Amino acid sequence: MEIIVKLEKESFSKDDIIRLLKSEGEEKNALFKKSGEVKEKYIGNKVWFRGLIEFSNICGKDCLYCGIRKGNKNLKRYNLSDDEILAAAKFAFDNNYGSVALQSGEIESPAFTKRVIKLLNNIKELSDGKLGITLSVGEQEPEVYNEWFDAGAHRYLLRVESTNRELYSKIHPNNKKHDFQRRLDCLKSLQDIGYQTGTGVMVGLPFQTLEDLAGDLLFMQDFNIDMCGMGPYIEHADTPLIINADKLLPLKERFDLTLKMIAVLRIMMKDINIVAATALQAIDPIGREKAVKIGANILMPNITPGKYRDSYKLYDNKPCTDNSAEDCQSCLEARVSLADAEVIYSEWGDSQHYEKRRYKRSC
Ligand code: SAH
Repeated sequence: MEIIVKLEKESFSKDDIIRLLKSEGEEKNALFKKSGEVKEKYIGNKVWFRGLIEFSNICGKDCLYCGIRKGNKNLKRYNLSDDEILAAAKFAFDNNYGSVALQSGEIESPAFTKRVIKLLNNIKELSDGKLGITLSVGEQEPEVYNEWFDAGAHRYLLRVESTNRELYSKIHPNNKKHDFQRRLDCLKSLQDIGYQTGTGVMVGLPFQTLEDLAGDLLFMQDFNIDMCGMGPYIEHADTPLIINADKLLPLKERFDLTLKMIAVLRIMMKDINIVAATALQAIDPIGREKAVKIGANILMPNITPGKYRDSYKLYDNKPCTDNSAEDCQSCLEARVSLADAEVIYSEWGDSQHYEKRRYKRSC
């Protein structure tokens, strides 16, 4: 089979990747088998948790795909109190999650910067320095990233969303607040400061081609990312992009394509952390487990207090919005064992790629 020959290569060209993303049937099985083997060899059949705290849906941006965009007036805005955030972090710590991830809409202000510093300090304090902390709060000035790094955040997730500038400009308003170059600059400063740096894209966007997606994976490799979160694009009725709903691949195909993206990336970047995104589960009830089987090694159980979850709706049909943190824990544990993997508790589960990258630099 032609695909097997491609899979044995040391590195993939854009055409190779496109070919792999087109694979179906036996060929797709061969791709998934290979990526599963790579994961087993380099990472083991392991999964680490990041307790996800979606602490506010207040956002200053207007991304055309996103349900929490500033312009969406049909959404109740919330902002967790510091006590609620710390209680969620304490839950993660008491349940031996190695890490938490703090995510919110994008706000750039001195008050927001200060608040995050205080939260980082408090989370470190309540866990005796033991909880790892990932931030995912969007584009900020390098000084702000620096302050947060000094306060104890060590991983940062900033999805580039798409690396094709033209596509980027079709899914964002064209103004200074939504500038592609700034997103890239932010990723670069995160990496320079010393964060484990994560990015990712949405898969199955309107106007997106397989060539775009192959370009996205090559970008991740060239940029030398440490972590990746990729999920299917899921339309949201209260967003401008909904007018293109007729141009989308069927949900099942977006799901399948996301799995293929994860599998190809795992083969390309053997030792990075890859998240099994929640959006996968919005399409397939065991979507995240399928991702774990073929290459993902990070799950983000939602530990946001239940009453707010309904309001962090990035897309329609977001799963688990009516659960509590305890429900997520037992549900996910059962799910991970379905994927023949094991949850590793009380460890940060840092990206091995980052360790090696840093080591190389210091030699
Ligand atoms: N504001 C932060 C994080 C919040 S949104 C930031 O920009 O980093 C987290 C991610 O949700 C986004 O990066 C985007 O990739 C994803 N997302 C937003 N709307 C979506 C949709 N309609 N379908 C699927 N994923 C979506």
